[in-house]
Amino acid sequence: MRLPPFELHRPATVEEATALLERHGDDAAIYGGGTELLLLMKLGFAQPAHLVDVKGIAELSGVQAGGGALVIGAATTHRELERAPAVAAGWPALAEMERMVANVRVRNAGTVGGNVCFSDPHSDPATFLLCADATFVCRRGGAEPRRVPASGFVRGPYRTALEPGELLVAIELPEPPAGAAIVHRKLALHERPAVTVTCLARVERGRVAEARIAVGSVGVVPVRAAEAERLLEGLDAPAPDAASLEAAGAAAAEAARPVADANGSVEYKENLVRVMVRRTFAEALGRAA
Ligand SMILES: Cc1cc2nc3c(=O)[nH]c(=O)nc-3n(C[C@H](O)[C@H](O)[C@H](O)COP(=O)(O)OP(=O)(O)OC[C@H]3O[C@@H](n4cnc5c(N)ncnc54)[C@H](O)[C@@H]3O)c2cc1C
Repeated sequence: MRLPPFELHRPATVEEATALLERHGDDAAIYGGGTELLLLMKLGFAQPAHLVDVKGIAELSGVQAGGGALVIGAATTHRELERAPAVAAGWPALAEMERMVANVRVRNAGTVGGNVCFSDPHSDPATFLLCADATFVCRRGGAEPRRVPASGFVRGPYRTALEPGELLVAIELPEPPAGAAIVHRKLALHERPAVTVTCLARVERGRVAEARIAVGSVGVVPVRAAEAERLLEGLDAPAPDAASLEAAGAAAAEAARPVADANGSVEYKENLVRVMVRRTFAEALGRAA
């Protein structure tokens, strides 16, 4: 596998990146860590003659906590997120999730923005960010930022809400609510996850005051399982009844709409979701209680 020839551009601002994307049109591609893009190019699925490297744009770099939110530059690598002191201090579940992505080589090069913009259905961050109620900040040079909720960003396999020429500049994560814990779990049979589950449990006066269940990697897009969440709210936190957890797992399996692929049949994936949602929510509840 050989890379076709290309010219690498290193803009310093979103405006410069936009100008390059406009000048070269379909012949240009945004380049983060290249872990997906270069593979596509080597396989002959894409042949952009101009790569616009966004890692040097300050607006897309770094991780900052403040004002009740964590702002993650889209060009932040998985490894940086995993090790950032601000993440460890306020969003340990995010660091834990990032440690589960791929392997160290991919995490060192791959960016969180590249992960969600590529929109491969088998993604850890996409499921986590949906559960955490993240906001995706998108911008084209010269325009005001456009803010897209996580629930509207991933539109389908390899399709997002990004408009032509727009960059994902940042991802904003609100602080987890008081009394809440988030847990992300996955199962991978091959390189990428076969199932990803993120659960948030918030406990107030010994009861589940809020439940959030996101399931991804089994269907075409990650989903929030609203019916499962409803079944969990009000449960006794120290001793949740097994039947409700089981029913929530079953409701999540239905909401996830698994598709058959190299990871298994629809029935197999439904079973995985049922079991993993039950266990992951129980774990979140244990941490929150
Ligand atoms: C072996 C292997 C194992 C993996 N395992 C996992 C796993 O377990 N879990 C998981 O979640 N993922 C996994 N991945 C996917 C990995 O997380 C992604 O490859 C990586 O995060 C992509 O980031 P990148 O910066 O390299 O993207 P690039 O390859 O640089 O870009 C990907 C796409 O996004 C676009 N893009 C990039 N940045 C932006 C931006 N800021 N704005 C707009 N568009 C942009 C590019 O134009 C391109 O179309 C795996 C990948 C590999 C190769």
